[in-house]
Amino acid sequence: GPFLARPHPAAYSEPVSTDCLFCRIVERSVPATVVHETETVLAFRDIAPQADTHILVIPKEHHSDAAAMAAADPQLAGEVLAVAGEVAKIDGVDASGYRLVFNTGEDGGQTVFHAHCHVLGGRNLTWPPG
Ligand code: IMP
Repeated sequence: GPFLARPHPAAYSEPVSTDCLFCRIVERSVPATVVHETETVLAFRDIAPQADTHILVIPKEHHSDAAAMAAADPQLAGEVLAVAGEVAKIDGVDASGYRLVFNTGEDGGQTVFHAHCHVLGGRNLTWPPG
């Protein structure tokens, strides 16, 4: 199968997928423009930015989407949200405002199945989204 189990101290960790692009970015085998990093979370610039600020905030541990992450490790989900707020400050969009998005599944437009929070800002974002 596509999954290669890797020992991990967390009780409910999912296996790391060798086919997962964002796991490769965490491992630094795929390059990324890293904005901020903690022990558990990595933030890097989206390769196809949809606004002046477009940063992806991901758990280093593999979870397929935000709901799976939150169910397995609520503290980690909170850490992802905290880093999202920190990178908004780093890019200076905290005062003007920004949007956090977790696309989930096919109808949600998810294309990378490793949980990630989009941090979008630097322009007036329209609602509803497309
Ligand atoms: P999704 O469509 O919500 O799953 O978001 C995936 C995001 O990852 C898209 O906005 C892509 O532009 C972005 N992306 C895809 N490959 C890379 C990469 O190698 N580095 C940074 N961002 C990427």
